[in-house]
Amino acid sequence: MRVWLAVFALFVAAHCRKVFIGDQVFRINAESEEQIQLLKRLEEDYVSKLDFWTHPVSTDLPVDIHVPYTSLGTVKTFLQQNKIPFHVMINDLQDLLNEEQKDLVKNALNQRSAKNINFAAYHTLETIYKWIDSLVADHPNLVSKLNIGNSYENRPMYVLKFSTGGSKRPAIWVDAGIHSREWVSVASAVWMANKMATDFGDDPSITSLLSQMDVYLLIVTNPDGYVYTHTNDRMWRKTRSINPGSICRGVDPNRNWDAGFGGPGASNNPCSDSYHGSSAHSEIEVKNIVDLVNSHGNFKAFISIHAYSQLLMYPYGYSCTAVSHQAELDLVGRKAVKALSSLYGTSYKVGSICKIIYQASGGSIDWTYNTGIKYSFAFELRDTGRYGFLLPANQIIPTASETWLALKYIMEYVRDHPY
Ligand SMILES: [Zn+2]
Repeated sequence: MRVWLAVFALFVAAHCRKVFIGDQVFRINAESEEQIQLLKRLEEDYVSKLDFWTHPVSTDLPVDIHVPYTSLGTVKTFLQQNKIPFHVMINDLQDLLNEEQKDLVKNALNQRSAKNINFAAYHTLETIYKWIDSLVADHPNLVSKLNIGNSYENRPMYVLKFSTGGSKRPAIWVDAGIHSREWVSVASAVWMANKMATDFGDDPSITSLLSQMDVYLLIVTNPDGYVYTHTNDRMWRKTRSINPGSICRGVDPNRNWDAGFGGPGASNNPCSDSYHGSSAHSEIEVKNIVDLVNSHGNFKAFISIHAYSQLLMYPYGYSCTAVSHQAELDLVGRKAVKALSSLYGTSYKVGSICKIIYQASGGSIDWTYNTGIKYSFAFELRDTGRYGFLLPANQIIPTASETWLALKYIMEYVRDHPY
């Protein structure tokens, strides 16, 4: 009965969902600084409704743009006239979305209980929340669930706390899904939560870690946005808050932190995907985390999981000035990535946000670093653009497994380097 309800819900959702028939994703390889500047101007043109999946920064990094069907001609002409090399990476976005949707329905049919979640599939918020309860029920002496506050649309934000006792032990924070369309970060966090719970007692490294420290894991940091990606618009990135005086909703929750707030790499246009919001911590989802981090007062690491681009980054984003622990963070990052690559050879780049991708202000790990959490990192998981945000579900477990090795390396390092 429940299965059919789930299928029915998916069916209903499918009929009010934004469609992307004929939309394409272009991969652009700019060859000069002049071309980068032209692409930046293109990004500021809201008329064509272009969705920049990655941003023009330097000639080293390709730029991926989701181009709506109606703008294909204009953008192609623009690129050709300016002799900017590009190719079509995704030929029809809707085809990929249909595949993903078929998987979701098939999976809803096959799932018998919350406990038997399929880790190789993407899930709705409802399914993830039910599974969280089953994980807590199965590991009552290790895992508990905290509601750190509700989202703008009143959904609880559940943090899984892994702890073997003691009050306010030094702790490690991990979050995923702050940008709602980055589904593989959420799916990987589900897998890693299960991994940590089941490996405790068997894996000496995790067992020793949890005998000294607590781990806090927020699987769905932007629950409203995540639900919206399932029901209305798979490409939604921001929160769902109303912006007074604008028809556009939502704030980029990773431009909303009180670290260089409103500076370069964030937009003051509410219609932009990188809109920073009316003030720092205006987004309740951000404020809930800020309040928890402040009241806890003993976080030693803060790790935020995004997708895509295969990067491991440390502060700052708002400034290209090196942080005082740059050498140490860089070394930890490099070793973590080495551990990650040991599984399937996946290659990652390591560096500060500003140097490795772009100057971006108001990001979470800049704020945590400035509050004194030295080991602040952000991951961008698979891939490097073949599928972008629509990474096929059969890559979830490989992605989570390799990321786990990097995460474990960082957590062990933090355990062994108290400060
Ligand atoms: Zn992101």
